[in-house]
Amino acid sequence: MPTHLSYEFNTPVYKGSTSFETGLFIDGKFVDGSTGSTIDVINPATEHIITSVSEGTTDDVDAAVAAAQRAYDTVWGLNASGLARSNLLWKLAQAMEAHADELSAIEVLDNGKTFGWASSTDVALSINVVKYYAGWADKLTGQTLETDSKLLAYTRHEPIGVVGQIIPWNFPLLMFVWKIAPALATGNTIVLKPSEFTPLTALRMCTLINESGFPPGVVNVVTGYGHTVGVAISSHMAIQKVAFTGSTLVGRKIMEAAARSNLKAVTLELGGKSPNIIFDDADLEQAVKWAAHGLFWNHGQACCAGSRIFVQSGAYDSFLERFTEKAKQIKVGDPFDKGVDQGPQISQIQFDRVMGYIESGKNDGAKIHLGGGRVGNEGYYIEPTIFVDAKPEMRIVKEEIFGPVGVVIRFEDEEDVIRQANDTMYGLAAAVFSKDINRAIETAHKLKTGTVWVNCYNNFHPGIPFGGFKQSGIGREMGEYALHHYTNVKAVHINLGNVL
Ligand code: NAD
Repeated sequence: MPTHLSYEFNTPVYKGSTSFETGLFIDGKFVDGSTGSTIDVINPATEHIITSVSEGTTDDVDAAVAAAQRAYDTVWGLNASGLARSNLLWKLAQAMEAHADELSAIEVLDNGKTFGWASSTDVALSINVVKYYAGWADKLTGQTLETDSKLLAYTRHEPIGVVGQIIPWNFPLLMFVWKIAPALATGNTIVLKPSEFTPLTALRMCTLINESGFPPGVVNVVTGYGHTVGVAISSHMAIQKVAFTGSTLVGRKIMEAAARSNLKAVTLELGGKSPNIIFDDADLEQAVKWAAHGLFWNHGQACCAGSRIFVQSGAYDSFLERFTEKAKQIKVGDPFDKGVDQGPQISQIQFDRVMGYIESGKNDGAKIHLGGGRVGNEGYYIEPTIFVDAKPEMRIVKEEIFGPVGVVIRFEDEEDVIRQANDTMYGLAAAVFSKDINRAIETAHKLKTGTVWVNCYNNFHPGIPFGGFKQSGIGREMGEYALHHYTNVKAVHINLGNVL
C-alpha cells in the first residue's frame, strides 16, 4: 500500500489539516517503490519522525521515464497546444492559491522555516512563478529568416522531451516550481527527484497537478536518495536534459554522469559565498536591515546568502554595532510560534556541519563577535553568528557554510573590495550599498556574479533570471532565459523556387 500522511496543525500561527499520499508519483498515480522500502522524514524542530516516503530505485526511475516518454509522445510535447499548457498551468496556480496555507504549513513542518516566510515567500513566489510561465506557454515563437529571394527558413522552439530535475531541501516547493513550470510551459515531460530531507510539498503538489487536469505521466516524482535515484536520472539514456539545484560537489557529479551517458544537456544552480559590500556613504540603517536579511534569511540556508559582509573603514564600527544589535533581535525558536524569525537548520548533518565551521573559524584565529552556540537541546537550532578579524584564507571566508554564520570584513577602497569580493570560486550573487548610484553601478558591473542587488538583498521576481557565474552554475532559472534551456531550436529550410 502506498504510504500516506494525515496531519493536524494545531499551532499558534496555523490551524488546519492535510492528508495526502507519499508514494512515488508515476503515470498520474501514487505507487510503492519497487523494493517497498521507505525513508523517514524528520521534523527538524523536534527531531521526531513526521512520516515516511517511498525510497525509489533505478527501476522506479525507469518506470517514471517510460511514463514520461509515453505522455510526451501521445498527449504532451508536440501534441498539446501552447494554450492547453497555459490553461493547465493557470489551473495549477489557482489550486496552489486555494491550498496556500496548507502548503506553507507542510513546508514549515518538513523544512523548519517559519510560517511567515513560507507563506510570504516560498508559496507566494511559487504561485507567481507558475502564473508567469502559464503566460509564456502560448507565446513561444521562432523566427522567419530569409537568406535569398527564393529561399526561406524558419525556426521552431521545440520541447526537448523527457527532462530530469533534481532539487535540494532549502526551498523545497520553490525549487520544485522553478523547475517544473518552465519545463511544462515549453512542452516537456518530467521526472523529478526532491531532496530526501524535504519531499512533502513536492508530493502534495502531485495531487494538485492531477486535480488541475495534467495528463498522467506529464509530471512524475520519484523520491529517494541522490546516489540511487539522482544517479539514475542524471545517467539515464532516455532523459535528454537534466536540471539540477544543489551543491557544487554534486553538480560536478551530475555533469560527469551526463557526459558519460548520452551527453544530455545540463543546467546547474549551485552554491555561493556571496559578498555584500557596504560603502562609507551607504544609508546604514538600510544596509543593516538588508545585510541581516541577506545573511540570516532561511537560517542562512540560501545559496545566495550574503555571508561575506565587506564594510568600508569609515562605516565599519558603526555598522558592526548596529548589525550586532539587529542580529541579537532575531528570535530563534519553533517555526510555528508567533514572532519567531529563525527556525532550526534542516538536519543533524547540517547542524554538525555548521557547528564544525564555527569551530574552524575559532581555531583559525577569527573572533566570534556574536553567537556561535546551539539554542536549546531539541531541534537543530543555531544562534545567529557573526565573525570578525577573519583572514581571506580561512574556511569561514572561503567556503559555503549554509547556516546563520557570516563574517564582517573591513575594506579600504573600491579596488580593494572588488578584488576581495571576486576572490572566490563562486559567482552567484552580490550586493552593493551606496547612496552614490554611479559608484554602485560601476561596482555592480565589476562583480563576477549572476545577480547584483543594489541597496537591497534577496529580491526575486519570476521574470528576472537567476543563476551563477564560475562554479555557481550553468544556465539561468526564471524569466524568459529559463525557457531557452527547455527547448531545442529547429531550423526548417524551404526552397520557394527551383534553387540548387
Ligand atoms: P546536495 O547537492 O547535497 O543535494 C541536492 C540534490 O541532489 C538532492 O536531491 C540530493 O539527493 C541529490 N544528489 C545527491 N547526490 C547526488 C548524485 N550523486 N547524483 C544525483 N543527485 C544527487 O545539496 P543540498 O544539501 O540538498 O542543498 C544545498 C546546496 O544547494 C547548497 O550548496 C546551495 O548553495 C545549493 N543551492 C543552490 C541554489 C541555486 O539556485 N544556485 C538554490 C538552492 C540551493
